[in-house]
Amino acid sequence: MIDTKLTSEEAIALEDKYGAHNYHPLPVVLDRGEGVYVWDVEGKKYYDFLSAYSALNQGHCHPRIINAMIEQAKKLTLTSRAFYNSVLGEFEKYVTEYFDYDKVLPMNSGAEAVETAIKVCRKWAYEKKGIPESAAKIIVCDGNFHGRTTTIISFSNDDNARDNFGPYTPGFIRIPYNDLDALEEALKQDNVAGMLVEPIQGEAGVFVPDEDYIANAAKMCQESGVLFIADEVQTGIARTGKLLAVCKGCSCEGAKCQSKAGFKPDIIVLGKAISGGAYPVSAILANDEVMNVIQPGQHGSTFGGNPIAAKVAMAALGVVEDEDLANNAQRMGELFRSEMQKIVDSSDLVKLVRGKGLLNAIVINDSEDSSTAWDICVALKENGLLAKPTHGNIIRFAPPLIMTEEQLMDCVSIIGKTIREFEGSN
Ligand SMILES: *Cc1c(COP(=O)(O)O)cnc(C)c1O
Repeated sequence: MIDTKLTSEEAIALEDKYGAHNYHPLPVVLDRGEGVYVWDVEGKKYYDFLSAYSALNQGHCHPRIINAMIEQAKKLTLTSRAFYNSVLGEFEKYVTEYFDYDKVLPMNSGAEAVETAIKVCRKWAYEKKGIPESAAKIIVCDGNFHGRTTTIISFSNDDNARDNFGPYTPGFIRIPYNDLDALEEALKQDNVAGMLVEPIQGEAGVFVPDEDYIANAAKMCQESGVLFIADEVQTGIARTGKLLAVCKGCSCEGAKCQSKAGFKPDIIVLGKAISGGAYPVSAILANDEVMNVIQPGQHGSTFGGNPIAAKVAMAALGVVEDEDLANNAQRMGELFRSEMQKIVDSSDLVKLVRGKGLLNAIVINDSEDSSTAWDICVALKENGLLAKPTHGNIIRFAPPLIMTEEQLMDCVSIIGKTIREFEGSN
């Protein structure tokens, strides 16, 4: 094979011809990443303002994470769970102490972890709560995004994600997000086993609910004897300025955040940044009374909890703590929103900015089916910053959490300049 690099055009043509068209990527072909930066095959440098949907909170190719992966890859990669391995127990102790739960169940993708939470919740409902067989219902919210499996898309209200994939899995009650009255009504139904919710709806366009929505929802679930399940796959691991977005009333300095919170979700779902974007790792965390309903043979995954995943996740969580990423996300997020607000105030093109920590979005002043947000993202790319529209007219901004103030201000000026150019040319 001749070692010549493909041009961007050639790489895109290959994906187009040989790959399923299940994504619509921005036309940029990335070849290398380091920290907050990525480079395309032609060598052009960009700020990564998506961070692989918040998987790269620790930045690209963090040396500590990569070293952990390489060292373990040379030693033992996979045993399956048919045998014990010398790393999994260490990881399980580390991650449960880190988030203050009794037990963890490791999987690979976020969707698998959500599926795991649904299965555990249902089993708990039948065996602990006494719900009649196959009658358990789980409350979910409009605008949810929890992944792409058949069961998960069954309770989505995104037509594009759902249409023509039926028959759908029953057993879900969908209510409006950020609506405690609707939750109260839903909790009155028979056989409710749990509520599955995102503390901030990321895919829906970074919808931040009212300040006390999550805490109150959790309290109402607890009072009704219903499991409260927080999907923190995107919001968790320092992204929103706290270790977990559900954290409340704590200073959140690294580990043990949950123990200081006024409440604790019955199940936490984690993915994405738990590996710092280096390897597919996901997990659910719960206490014994919930997790112990799962017995041998009832759930699993060949790769779940493998030694590389375990080492990578410990390194990735170690980076979050040692580099104080939650506090940096908090500070940089406040600065970013205040700078974006200046653009909102001075531009007709940008309607508003919203978010928490470094999970933010701007809403473009155009119809949802317009291509304006996409066109702005293409223009941002030309100016050296990569972001992606979500749901039509919304652009999500979620850089790695290691971003410095100087880098952030550079990005703010790229965004401001791009918006001004765009307004001038249209
Ligand atoms: C990304 C995401 C998932 C699914 O994770 P995958 O690894 O893509 O399967 C689930 N829930 C939320 C909130 C997410 O953002």
